[in-house]
Amino acid sequence: MQYVPFGKHGFDVSRLGMGCMRLPTMQQDGKTVIDREAAISLIRRGIDGGITYVDTAYPYHDGESEIVTGLALKDGYRERVKLATKLPIWLVKEEKDMNRLLDEQLRKLDVPYVDFYLLHAMNKDRLELMRSLNYRQFLNDALADGRIRHAAFSFHDGKEVFLELLQDYDKWGMAQIQFNYLDDDKQATEEGLRAAGKAGIPLVIMEPLRGGALANPPADVKQLMDSYEVKRSAVEWAFAYVADYAEVATVLSGMSSQQQLDENLAIFDHLTVGGLTDADKALIRELKKTYLARVPIGCTGCRYCVPCPNDVSIPSVFHSYNESAMLGQEWKHSWGYNNLVKDGHDASKCVGCGACEAQCPQSLPIIELLGKIDGEFNK
Ligand code: SF4
Ligand code: SF4
Repeated sequence: MQYVPFGKHGFDVSRLGMGCMRLPTMQQDGKTVIDREAAISLIRRGIDGGITYVDTAYPYHDGESEIVTGLALKDGYRERVKLATKLPIWLVKEEKDMNRLLDEQLRKLDVPYVDFYLLHAMNKDRLELMRSLNYRQFLNDALADGRIRHAAFSFHDGKEVFLELLQDYDKWGMAQIQFNYLDDDKQATEEGLRAAGKAGIPLVIMEPLRGGALANPPADVKQLMDSYEVKRSAVEWAFAYVADYAEVATVLSGMSSQQQLDENLAIFDHLTVGGLTDADKALIRELKKTYLARVPIGCTGCRYCVPCPNDVSIPSVFHSYNESAMLGQEWKHSWGYNNLVKDGHDASKCVGCGACEAQCPQSLPIIELLGKIDGEFNK
């Protein structure tokens, strides 16, 4: 395992972090619950293998993740790791809710303090809400009374909001962002990552494998990897890309099995900051280009075409379809599109009125595309 200083906090951290959002599960009374024995064994095996950073959150596994993470950290494991959990902002209606939720989380984890407490999934609206509820005072108090060691946030919005958020509080001890070689120009972006580094705020990375998609590349992307002189697995290329940044402290992986864990531990034995050569980086740019070239519909997501009188979520339909094609996934299994079907916003609801096409600056043949997408889904 490789270790780096966690910013200027005075301790080192493992480059691989244990994400506790995809722990092993089992069926119990018709419900999916965490397989506690397997999960505790997995977390402890990770720590025994060198992991020193463990991340959970209030909603993971319907609230069970914090409890099981706390159990896994018994028997001397707590002292060996930095522990992070997150404030579920969507449950915060008034100022006192923040204290109540933090206390509840400490009880569930059965610990007197957490090392990192994150405002969960911050975006523009949540920043406004947190400001209106005086979040800085809450974090200052929790830092002062010792319930949290470092204040932080996780983030899902655009670069401008990220830059604003970095400046909004002078005690941020970390920021957690979604970052991988396919998405380095989205959300916080590489520019935001660099800005955090300049501001002395270390980063924790989530979705380095884009929810696992980068672990199973389509044939053309795989071929490109295989033809390169340095042999790395798809997973290793994705991890190597984020681990190369000096601004990145820990890279989270939500592991579900011992096999995944062991593979990841082996990879992080040798991933160092600045370990990629210029040729390696050029290959990664080619991988990204190859993925993007697979996108079939030139929809920019501008949303000029909506609302549709028949409630078709046109940009979301195209986005799901493009994602699926880009990643080489089976269209029928698109999680995003299946949700649109469930909510009645899918392509099948189009009646061909034509109102959308006149609004599209890309002159996309929307009706024809929706018909094709629906046809392929129902094939
Ligand atoms: S053509 Fe279809 S998608 Fe476009 S506005 Fe009419 S019903 Fe909606
Ligand atoms: S107007 Fe055209 S480009 Fe814009 S979101 Fe709709 S389909 Fe996409």
